[in-house]
Amino acid sequence: MAVLEILTAPHPNLEVKTRPVDEAEFGPALQKLCSDMAETMYAAPGVGLAGPQVGDTRQIIVLDPGEKEERGRRFFTLINPAILEKSRETIQWNETCLSVPDLECDTTRARRIRMGWRNPDGSRHEGWFEEYEAVIVQHELDHLAGTVLLDRVSLFKRSRYLKKVRARAQRERALAGPG
Ligand SMILES: [Zn+2]
Repeated sequence: MAVLEILTAPHPNLEVKTRPVDEAEFGPALQKLCSDMAETMYAAPGVGLAGPQVGDTRQIIVLDPGEKEERGRRFFTLINPAILEKSRETIQWNETCLSVPDLECDTTRARRIRMGWRNPDGSRHEGWFEEYEAVIVQHELDHLAGTVLLDRVSLFKRSRYLKKVRARAQRERALAGPG
């Protein structure tokens, strides 16, 4: 297994609309990528990670809402995930994202969603995700559609954030010196 680099906004890969994993792609290489994504999520640490965040433009999500000793108990890999049903009832959350460090965003999500997905071994699954888990799944589904939290905040907050990122990159380039 390997810890992958997590891309951060405004990286163009984060804006890509992903495609489903093809039938022929299920196999060892996909399983390896999914384990690497899990390891990357745990190392960050984060509660979810989507393909585009590690430069893969396919519909792959890993998630684990657990904290500390609960890590690993509710671990999921969702390949080609689809929302089958969602509650009209919503939930408010304050979300953060590994790909948009130092940004918080208040969101409104469906409180419960029923998902269908494939596992890395190709098997098909269905299940409900509720509350915090539902928030994570919907956040990761945004990634698969090329949307990050930065697209959900006000234009003012967005431009202030991007200005800060650019300034930091410039400082780092200056420190690295010429060449
Ligand atoms: Zn995210």
